[in-house]
Amino acid sequence: CGVFGAFSKNGQSVLEDVYLGLYALQHRGQESSGMAWIAKNSAGCELRVTKGMGLVHLALDQKELSSSHSNCAIGHTRYSTAGGSFLSNAQPITANYSRGSVAIAHNGNITNATGIRRYLENRGAIFQSTSDTETILHLMAHQSHKPPLDALISALKTLKGAYSLAVIINNRLVAARDPWGFRPLVLGRRGETTYIASESCALDIVGATLVRDIKPGEVVVIDEDGEKSLLIPKETERKFTCAFEYVYFARPDSFLDGKSVYDVRKKLGQKLAQSAPCPEADMVTGMPDSGTISAMGYAEESGLRYEKAIVRNRYVGRTFIEPTQRVRELGVRIKLNPIGEIMKDKKIVIVDDSIVRGTTVQRVIAMVRESGAKEVHIRIASPPVKFPCYYGIDTPTSEELAAARMNIEELCKEIGADSLSYISVSEMLDAIGLPHHNVCTACFSGDYLNGGKDDELDL
Ligand code: 5GP
Ligand code: SF4
Ligand code: MG
Repeated sequence: CGVFGAFSKNGQSVLEDVYLGLYALQHRGQESSGMAWIAKNSAGCELRVTKGMGLVHLALDQKELSSSHSNCAIGHTRYSTAGGSFLSNAQPITANYSRGSVAIAHNGNITNATGIRRYLENRGAIFQSTSDTETILHLMAHQSHKPPLDALISALKTLKGAYSLAVIINNRLVAARDPWGFRPLVLGRRGETTYIASESCALDIVGATLVRDIKPGEVVVIDEDGEKSLLIPKETERKFTCAFEYVYFARPDSFLDGKSVYDVRKKLGQKLAQSAPCPEADMVTGMPDSGTISAMGYAEESGLRYEKAIVRNRYVGRTFIEPTQRVRELGVRIKLNPIGEIMKDKKIVIVDDSIVRGTTVQRVIAMVRESGAKEVHIRIASPPVKFPCYYGIDTPTSEELAAARMNIEELCKEIGADSLSYISVSEMLDAIGLPHHNVCTACFSGDYLNGGKDDELDL
């Protein structure tokens, strides 16, 4: 998912900025979009919310937004990891409780949400949705003896797993990032307006500059008085930034935890060329768009010619976000088309960022062979994806993961390639450039934090 928030100290409306920010974060979720904001009127402050299914421009009513005014707003683009693809699970989720108004937009996946929910339901809580995010609101309401900001922080202390949050509490904007730092979250500024965003590319669109990343375990409170940085009082043995953000999920024009996503992808391709060269090939091409930058790195390092030999229909969304296998399969066919003329009688290296179910690469190889290519060599700019993610990326179960079902040789045969190579986990970590111990590689290595999915509840 993508989250965005803005607070203007001089009272200017930020609703259009949030709308634009969400536009730039569309790649992080296409199932539903929503915004919440504080509207001030003669009766005081009121929390408003609008959400709908689908893309930002379809889900949100621009007219309503441009005729409204607010200096404090958040927004969300959703793709489901926990809870189904329904409007009831669209975010931001909102509540008015004894201590005021709260709205939450969440990116990530809370791994002990089921346990917390059971605990709260046994004490009378009635949940409105199946989303893990709602547990945060209920945990807050459970601590109504505390001021809402303290209640939020103690709720966050209870959680395990991944959360990067944009929150409105009464007339304040709050950003929070889990103590492991799984998902990205950055702080930006333009004049008197402060922004929080999943990725820095969303700051560019509103003309804001990137101030810094929100630190793992940090809560930043933004209001009329400025910014205040607080800590979630939870000891963690290690940070755990998601490697897959760099490999695939984030936009290449973003900087995450100080690292350029573009640079990392280029380096992944260069390393791939070093460890899995293909000297007999005539050219390198990238699987658009996700493999393009690594393919350029591969070409640069190997000295092979780079051709943009596969064209992507830019009006088709990210295939994996479509929830069913049938739509996914059709998706590849309408999305990617090789230029036969370039490929005829050639030995081709195709670089992609990852193989998940294997659908994309298998279909593309078949199309490329139909175009008359002599050999097709597949190079993958990440290690084999063998394990599901419990921290907010929708990797399927092990049974559906191609690299979990078979070894590389079998997979090469299954997809119909002449050769297939991946980079290793340590090569990937070198390309990312953060301390290795501080990066999550669980979907590649099986090295989960605290053992993974059903973390037991310790309230
Ligand atoms: P596949 O067709 O093998 O299921 O998916 C691989 C393609 O989907 C790659 O081109 C990659 O860009 C994209 N993809 C990347 N990450 C994910 C993910 O987490 N889940 C899924 N299903 N596809 C992804
Ligand atoms: Fe990212 Fe994979 Fe870790 Fe999930 S398991 S947080 S996708 S590196
Ligand atoms: Mg792709």
